[in-house]
Amino acid sequence: MPEAARTLVFAANWKMHLAPDEARSFAGIFLASAPPVSGRTLWFFPSAVSLEAASTAFQGRADIRTGAQDVYWEPKGAFTGATSTTLARGAGASGALVGHSERRHVFGETDAETGKKVRALLAQGLWAMLCVGETLAERDAGTTLDVCIRQLRAGLEGIAAEAWPQVMIAYEPVWAIGTGRNATPGDAATVHRGIRDELDRLGARPAGRVPVLYGGSVNQGNVASLLAEREIDGVLVGGASLDPVGWARIVATMP
Ligand code: PEP
Repeated sequence: MPEAARTLVFAANWKMHLAPDEARSFAGIFLASAPPVSGRTLWFFPSAVSLEAASTAFQGRADIRTGAQDVYWEPKGAFTGATSTTLARGAGASGALVGHSERRHVFGETDAETGKKVRALLAQGLWAMLCVGETLAERDAGTTLDVCIRQLRAGLEGIAAEAWPQVMIAYEPVWAIGTGRNATPGDAATVHRGIRDELDRLGARPAGRVPVLYGGSVNQGNVASLLAEREIDGVLVGGASLDPVGWARIVATMP
């Protein structure tokens, strides 16, 4: 029996780039170069200041969603610099990244904090894209899957059965982010299988397939071989998502 077609997710993490006017001009070029492709969902994660501009610019394309790069779990209050889920939603976000390695390793975000953020998003009916991945030292120590499982358990602890369809996972080895090095498709697929087994243990299976994306120096040259792995449901991309024409080529790539 032929395998069911996968839904592929292409997610652009713009990090601390693209001001509102640049986001609007990116969207104009991108939309003209990237018609919708059936079975694909595109996510853009602009900086908080560009979220509304990007959300408005992409409005009308049912295959495109925008999200925040981070959220705080409290709904409102004296939390200078933070963005709540409700503020993000007000700026057009349908979800957010949680636990990106730069949040964990530059800003010191803990596993427990990722869990609070995921639960705050899901409570609002928003999507959470939980990022997990090992450092080079952890990889060299042979603990890649242990680290990912620990991060999955903490990030997804206590979520309700009906919330699973709002969950996505991005496996991003820390040593591969922004470095030009990436995991081989086969190595990534092995970790993805381990992640999927853990998602099953956590109770995800009855709700359907949770997308597990790969991220780390993905570009036009390596994206097809990554997507050719059945375990890889899409990609989360930083640097190569900042050029609208190049990103349009990546989202059109056939595995
Ligand atoms: C990222 O920011 O999530 C990422 C994977 O960055 P890059 O593609 O630049 O490695």
